[in-house]
Amino acid sequence: MSNVTVIDTKRGVRPRAAASDAEVAQRLAALQEKAKGRDPHGILELALKEEFAGKTAVVSSFGAETVVLLKLVADIDPNTPILFLNTGKLFGETLRYRDRLQDVLGLGDVRSLAPSLQARQDKDPDGTLWSRDTDACCDFRKTIPLNKALEPFQAQITGRKRFQTRERADMLPVEYFQDRYRFNPLWQWDLHQLEAFIDRNNLPRHPLVEDGYPSIGCMPCTRRVQAGEDYRAGRWSGLDKDECGIHLTDGGGI
Ligand code: SF4
Repeated sequence: MSNVTVIDTKRGVRPRAAASDAEVAQRLAALQEKAKGRDPHGILELALKEEFAGKTAVVSSFGAETVVLLKLVADIDPNTPILFLNTGKLFGETLRYRDRLQDVLGLGDVRSLAPSLQARQDKDPDGTLWSRDTDACCDFRKTIPLNKALEPFQAQITGRKRFQTRERADMLPVEYFQDRYRFNPLWQWDLHQLEAFIDRNNLPRHPLVEDGYPSIGCMPCTRRVQAGEDYRAGRWSGLDKDECGIHLTDGGGI
């Protein structure tokens, strides 16, 4: 953790007053204490009502389990800003699912983020960068637009779960990442709990799940998963890559 805010206008991060390491560590410890023993709804209330009211955004891929987090958020405040990365490489089904959930859950502030036209012309004029350098593609299509959109917020909420990847196995319900507090209300839930929640609340599912996609990202970097394969085996298949960069912990993604 640094007490110096990184100033990098190319990445969309503007200078702002940064808390010292000691202040951050003290507040993080207090937040973790308050989050102890709370269920996902309680952790969301901690962020959205108690500690960072009006200063929190949700980061959502509108992927396979997105509806669980969004339903929980909508029950507390349907006008919570939802940041959605429209990379230009998503499945059409995901875009339609976003529109459906916005309607069904009454989400009042869904913000679709995209790389600028200039960035696309400079970095990926023919749209094939994903086939040569996935890190560079994720960086300009996801990380940079998200950093810019998160600038006004002091906290973010993610739908990350411990079971999803090796890197996420040690995740805590509250973290501090890139000058911002990060809440992971579903951190301890497994697939069965997510499925049960969707069934209990009669929520619409992403149409690609029943077509063999248990985890859904961009179209060129997501494939169907075969029986017996890992849940995220279809993401960046064949590459040593689990995360796109937007969720990497300090030192070390949708
Ligand atoms: S997931 Fe693939 S297509 Fe999407 S931004 Fe990353 S590299 Fe590019």
